[in-house]
Amino acid sequence: MAVVVDVNVCEGHGDCIEVCPVGALSLNDDNKAVCDEDTCIDCLACISACPVEAISEGE
Ligand code: SF4
Ligand code: SF4
Repeated sequence: MAVVVDVNVCEGHGDCIEVCPVGALSLNDDNKAVCDEDTCIDCLACISACPVEAISEGE
């Protein structure tokens, strides 16, 4: 499971990382959030935490 981050929208300040209960999100070298699909439990907390709506539900 995983959420999808739109790298064209993400501003890399990390609000989503703070709310993720399992630590599935991190910032990559481009300062964009990435989701570890093996760790994500699809709780979707990060979607509402992102102020610029860069995160959406995965397939
Ligand atoms: S909260 Fe949104 S804009 Fe901020 S790092 Fe996460 S995905 Fe990017
Ligand atoms: S959906 Fe939940 S578990 Fe998955 S990355 Fe977002 S906050 Fe973390």
